[in-house]
Amino acid sequence: MNTIASQRSQVLARIDAACAQAGRDPREVTLLAVSKTFGAEAVREAHAAGQVAFGENYVQEAVEKMARLTDLPLQWHCIGPVQSNKTRLVAEHFDWMHSVDRLKIAQRLSEQRPSTMAPLQVCIQVNIDGQTSKSGVAPEETLALAREVARLPRLVLRGLMTIPEPTEDGAAQRAVHARARALFEHLREAGLALDTLSMGMTADLEAAIASGSTMVRVGTAIFGQRTPRAPGAA
Ligand SMILES: *Cc1c(COP(=O)(O)O)cnc(C)c1O
Repeated sequence: MNTIASQRSQVLARIDAACAQAGRDPREVTLLAVSKTFGAEAVREAHAAGQVAFGENYVQEAVEKMARLTDLPLQWHCIGPVQSNKTRLVAEHFDWMHSVDRLKIAQRLSEQRPSTMAPLQVCIQVNIDGQTSKSGVAPEETLALAREVARLPRLVLRGLMTIPEPTEDGAAQRAVHARARALFEHLREAGLALDTLSMGMTADLEAAIASGSTMVRVGTAIFGQRTPRAPGAA
């Protein structure tokens, strides 16, 4: 049966198998369920199966969904690129923000985070494979940005996030994930207290776990295929 609960169990089994293969404790790897484009009922169903952390790309869509789920103790992660004019919605509604890639966005998030809420947990998105079309800070600029972000009062810098170019080739997946891991360790050696490496999705979570991912962001394997969104939709 292809229910959200059974698909989620299959994903947890993949995480367990990948951890066993890598000699890691599965408790080191958090499953973030990426619910973008799916409705509040799908989130509710996943929560009933035990899922707590949800990832969303489109801020407006996410905030509307959250409003229908206030009865549940969910943790919300923003994983999409955010323009300056949307930072307030992120600061006021999310627990985590994975896609900080410039200081201006981080400063706004820190200024706009309500004092009644816990600090916003953030990751810096790194353009690990240097794709010109993509968001994310360049690897060589990451340490400098991380130092600035770590100083902002209403943010807690937790780690790095990557979205490598999709490939079916496991060795290529591992090679790019290994670069992210090396950068993560470099930042830790430089004195930043980081504990989160957000990488791996439906197609590459095994390779990501082999390379040290601590948070995999999985949509399709839990909720099914997404219907493409209209271009320009918020
Ligand atoms: C959509 C998305 C995911 C989930 O991708 P799947 O291939 O459906 O698992 C993970 N991370 C980000 C940043 C995404 O935009």
